[in-house]
Formats: sequence, structure tokens, C-alpha cells
Amino acid sequence: MRVLVTGGGGFLGSHLCERLLQDGHDVLCVDNFFTGRKRNIAHLMNNPYFEVMRHDVTFPLYVEVDQIYNLACPASPVHYQHDPVQTTKTSVHGAINMLGLAKRLRARIFQASTSEVYGDPEVHPQPESYWGKVNPIGIRSCYDEGKRCAETLFFDYYRQHNLPIKVARIFNTYGPRMHPNDGRVVSNFVVQALKGEDITIYGEGQQTRSFCYVDDLIEGFVRLMNSPEELTGPVNMGNPREFTIKELAEQVIELTGSSSNLVFKPLPQDDPKQRQPDIQMARQELGWEPTIRLEEGLRKTISYFDELLTLNDLD
Ligand code: NAD
Ligand code: UDP
Ligand code: UDP
Repeated sequence: MRVLVTGGGGFLGSHLCERLLQDGHDVLCVDNFFTGRKRNIAHLMNNPYFEVMRHDVTFPLYVEVDQIYNLACPASPVHYQHDPVQTTKTSVHGAINMLGLAKRLRARIFQASTSEVYGDPEVHPQPESYWGKVNPIGIRSCYDEGKRCAETLFFDYYRQHNLPIKVARIFNTYGPRMHPNDGRVVSNFVVQALKGEDITIYGEGQQTRSFCYVDDLIEGFVRLMNSPEELTGPVNMGNPREFTIKELAEQVIELTGSSSNLVFKPLPQDDPKQRQPDIQMARQELGWEPTIRLEEGLRKTISYFDELLTLNDLD
């Protein structure tokens, strides 16, 4: 099949392109390289079945493909707050253009949605049926509301035009090709440990997160995309195994053999105490659940950042 991946130069997109090529598909990667890096896909450039197009999805796109994975969107607060209007445009105009493309081609289309659609949730863990608690006018709204509106558009194209859609709500994911300086906890701790700098724990470190290794997530994407047509989602995807942030810091120190100290900094405002996906639906409908343990995933992530440090390529 000819498969389009928007945001294919990013963290998740580059792993998805790699996986689709392995599965024998012809892959078209569309990216404006706002947060993506050519380095992420450099190893694919010699593959005759891989093609890259520099394009901003807020503008129409006319190509011929059989399936579309729509991942284009900056994903971390430092990046999506840099130009919030462009962030909303990417989610909303990007979704309209990709849905218009899918409608003309009668192609299946997958949307990378997010656990952020639940906002600051009052229900733990969050099932797909929970509608969320989102501030519509705050500094995170460009991302949260943009993604919510994209979901609305997907379901209206499904109802109005009978388009085959697949919506995944992604929870915290980590692995090689994460951005070294996007402020995420895994990349921060690993880089700090490798450099021998202090490890910055916000608050007491008792808040919990559930971390999914990228390969597990990509397996979930492919299963959802190729599932029976009536399964539209939204489907939660993430690792339900919870760790405290302090436990994460201790694991990173142990695995890197670092002499870094733990230092405690103020907890950012509105920092959720707990986040954990309810993945019952993915288990039942897709037979999917994460299999890679935190220790194994962290080892691979550490070796990636170690290589970047050696190459002095951390910007
Ligand atoms: P990323 O920033 O590495 O990748 C996003 C890619 O989209 C980048 O390559 C960027 O250059 C590209 N892009 C941004 N705006 C664009 C535009 N207007 N036109 C074309 N390309 C554009 O982020 P990621 O972590 O790989 O996230 C991929 C998708 O998954 C995003 O939609 C994100 O919201 C979603 N997601 C990720 C996570 C996570 O933990 N990484 C969690 C929830 C949802
Ligand atoms: N579009 C696109 N590529 C296509 C078909 C449509 O980018 O191959 C864009 C088109 O520019 C339009 C959007 O997708 O703005 C929505 O298309 P749709 O057909 O749903 O709406 P309409 O064109 O009727 O407004
Ligand atoms: N965090 C931390 N130190 C850091 C970066 C993050 O203690 O250097 C904490 C942060 O306060 C939050 C958790 O780690 O409680 C996860 O943060 P991240 O930004 O990775 O993801 P999110 O808050 O979106 O789940």
C-alpha cells in the first residue's frame, strides 16, 4: 500500500515510517520540520520506497495514497506554546485538509490524538467514555482544544461522509528520537544523568506517570489502522504501569551509573498528580498491550542520548 505519514520526521512519525517500510509499504513522509529533524529519517533516505515532502499540513495537499496517518503537530508545551495560533491551525486546518484528502481518495485515516483531551481529569484512570475537563482559554488550550476539535472533525467526516476513521488517544511515550530539550521528564533525566548534572525533580517526586515505550505504541497504531472498519475509536494507547517520578529518577541513575544528585524544584502549576490510561478497549478490540518494561526501554533511550552527546548534537 501507499501510506502517507504526516509529521513523519518527528519522534513517533519516524518510528512509524520505519515500521511501515519494514511491513513492505510505500511510504510518503510529509513534514514541515518545525520540531522534526532530518536526522530522524536520514537512515531511510536510501530506501527506494521512502519519499519525503516538505509541506505544512495547514495548506491543501494533493497526493495519491491508500492510507493516511495524521501525526503532524508539535507535542510538548515548549514547542506548542512557541506559536499557539499555528498549533491550533495545525490541528484544525491540518485535520480538515487530511480529511478532505481522505474523502477524495476514500482512504482510511488515523488521527494521533492525546490524553490531553481529558485535560485535568476528575476520573482515574481515564476511560474513553470520559469527556474530560479542559480549560478553553488557557495556555495549553491551543493544543488540548485543537486536538479535541480535530476529533470532532474526524467523527463528523465519519458520520457525514462515511469516511473510515481511526482515532488513538496517546499517553506519555518515550524512546530514542525524543527531543533532547523539550522539557519532558524522561529526556531531561537521561540527559542530566549522562552529563553528571543534578536531576531536577519537581515537587516531592511522588506524582505518578505511566510511560509507554515507542515500539509498543507503534504496534498499537498499526493494529488500530488495520482493524475492522467499525472500530473508529477513540482508543486509549499507553502503558498502565505507574511509577513515581522519584522512582524514575532512581532507575535512570542506576542504569546510567551516574553520580548525579537528586534536587527538588517547585512543582509547576496544575501538574497532574497521577496519569494512567485505562487500556481495556485496546486489550479487548486489538489484543494490544505494552510488553516492553521500563528498564529495557530506558536502556535503549539512554544509549540513544549517549550517542547524541558523543556527536555533540543535543540542540
Ligand atoms: P514531534 O514534535 O516529534 O512530531 C511532530 C511532527 O510534526 C514534527 O516532525 C513536526 O515538524 C511536524 N509538524 C508540526 N507542525 C506541522 C505542520 N503544520 N505541517 C507539517 N508537519 C508539521 O512529536 P511526537 O511526539 O512525535 O508526536 C506526534 C503526534 O503524536 C502529535 O500529533 C502529538 O500530538 C501526538 N502525541 C504524542 C505523544 C507523546 O508522548 N510523544 C502523546 C500524545 C500525543
Ligand atoms: N483537500 C486537500 N486535498 C484533497 C482534497 C481536499 O487538501 O485531495 C482539502 C481542500 O482544500 C479542502 C479540505 O481538504 O479545504 C476539505 O475538503 P472537503 O472536500 O471535505 O471540503 P470542501 O472542499 O468541500 O470544502
Ligand atoms: N518533571 C520533573 N522533572 C523534570 C521534568 C518533569 O520532575 O525535569 C515532572 C513533571 O512535573 C511531571 C512529570 O515529571 O510531574 C511528567 O512531566 P512531563 O512534562 O514529561 O509530562 P506530563 O506532565 O505532560 O505528563
